[in-house]
Amino acid sequence: MLDTALLINAVYVVAATLFIFGLKLLSHPSTARKGNLLSALAMLLAVIVTLLDQQILGFEWIAVSVLAGTLVGVFAARMVVMTSMPELVSLFNGIGGLASVAVAWAMIAGSEPLSVFVLIVSFLALLIGGVTFSGSVVAWAKLSERIPGRPLVFKGQVIANLLLVLAIIACAILLIRQPELTAVHWLAIGLALLMGVMVVLPIGGADMPVVISLLNSYSGLAACAAGFALENNLLIVAGALVGASGIILTNIMCKAMNRSLTHVLVSGFQPVVSSDIKIEGEVKPLSAEDAFFVLEAAQSVVVIPGYGMAVAQAQHAIKELQELLEKNGAEVAYAIHPVAGRMPGHMNVLLAEADVSYEQLYEMDEINPRIEGFDVAIVIGANDVVNPAAREMQGSPIYGMPVINADLARNVFVLKRGMAAGFAGVDNPLFFKDNCRMIFGDAKDTLNSLVRQFAD
Ligand code: NDP
Repeated sequence: MLDTALLINAVYVVAATLFIFGLKLLSHPSTARKGNLLSALAMLLAVIVTLLDQQILGFEWIAVSVLAGTLVGVFAARMVVMTSMPELVSLFNGIGGLASVAVAWAMIAGSEPLSVFVLIVSFLALLIGGVTFSGSVVAWAKLSERIPGRPLVFKGQVIANLLLVLAIIACAILLIRQPELTAVHWLAIGLALLMGVMVVLPIGGADMPVVISLLNSYSGLAACAAGFALENNLLIVAGALVGASGIILTNIMCKAMNRSLTHVLVSGFQPVVSSDIKIEGEVKPLSAEDAFFVLEAAQSVVVIPGYGMAVAQAQHAIKELQELLEKNGAEVAYAIHPVAGRMPGHMNVLLAEADVSYEQLYEMDEINPRIEGFDVAIVIGANDVVNPAAREMQGSPIYGMPVINADLARNVFVLKRGMAAGFAGVDNPLFFKDNCRMIFGDAKDTLNSLVRQFAD
């Protein structure tokens, strides 16, 4: 006879393995799509087996809820424009946290008596899940400019936070001693939500990418705690994977922005350093027609995309120009900064959409040592990630951030609409350097105009 418990555990092991392989495949753009599919399949297996195992729902309801979830997911992912993807990711993280709150609350408020261990892990799931949910909503509101992106601080904030931590500890003790008190359950949820708001409000918009990947990690930790509460091995494994990979991503992003995590988390409590640095030199505009002659003679070209390429949707136009340059005998490479754009991997996704070969994409550390050998660097809507002030100007707010050294190429063409600053809000001395020419206009229009001249 078939042992159901054994079968269910076997499916759990298969799903956990798929999650691990899925995650591994996500580490390279060429395999990321497959990794995503594998992880989605693992999630589907996990959902179906868990619901059947717990006899929570019959097949009909599983089908209905999977369909409803799929519809919302597909609709949200299709409707959102690429530049708003970080907001969507933030909301999805928050929903993950909310799911853990729901699980923990169902455990605590259920009629069965719970051991102290289960009470503790349920409280942790509720606390971390609640912080993730409200923190993600605040991050979403900041990114979508529904509330100001600057750090929101008030007098006595540190004291208020300390009191909040004390209240959370007291609430945890009360819950363990008298788990039947409904008021304590609500208090725990309220305090967790308040904590999430208090943690994210003082963090500035520029540090939001780090916060979002940290919240992503929290959503995993909350799920992991919920897994312990439910004694569900797969939830523990999946939660731990999300928690660990989120922390690794947070670390990578902190390094890319030259921030320590502590600095990000307490940035709102520190005085803002203003820089009065004056930039010398003059801006030299160039027409696309004149740029064409330089590009026609170039043997090597490095393309450095940034947020503006996403806004202009110029990825297909640059791919066309790349092909023409190659036909003309030039080597073309793409230099990708880890925080170019508005989400991790933003540029990789756009360039993959335009079928740019992965072999031509170089990370910052690979391209910088050889950037001086390039005849032309074409900067497409990038600003902060090519700002030499990060190397040269000690007082600058971005001093120390690792950047792509576009200014060291023989010639630099910057494609942007005007002289506006980038996300960090600081001026860019690259635009004033002797070897730099500004080609003003929408990046896609400029690239199309260059393509037309090559084709003529
Ligand atoms: P920036 O935000 O520094 O600069 C983008 C530039 O694009 C602007 O200066 C703008 O100038 C130009 N631009 C906008 N629209 C167009 C258009 N249609 N055509 C041409 N140019 C355009 O981008 P970077 O990619 O260099 O840097 C990313 C910044 O975002 C970093 O500070 C990073 O820390 C931050 N960040 C990164 C996240 C991530 O996960 N990758 C998430 C959140 C923030 P103009 O208006 O003059 O055209």
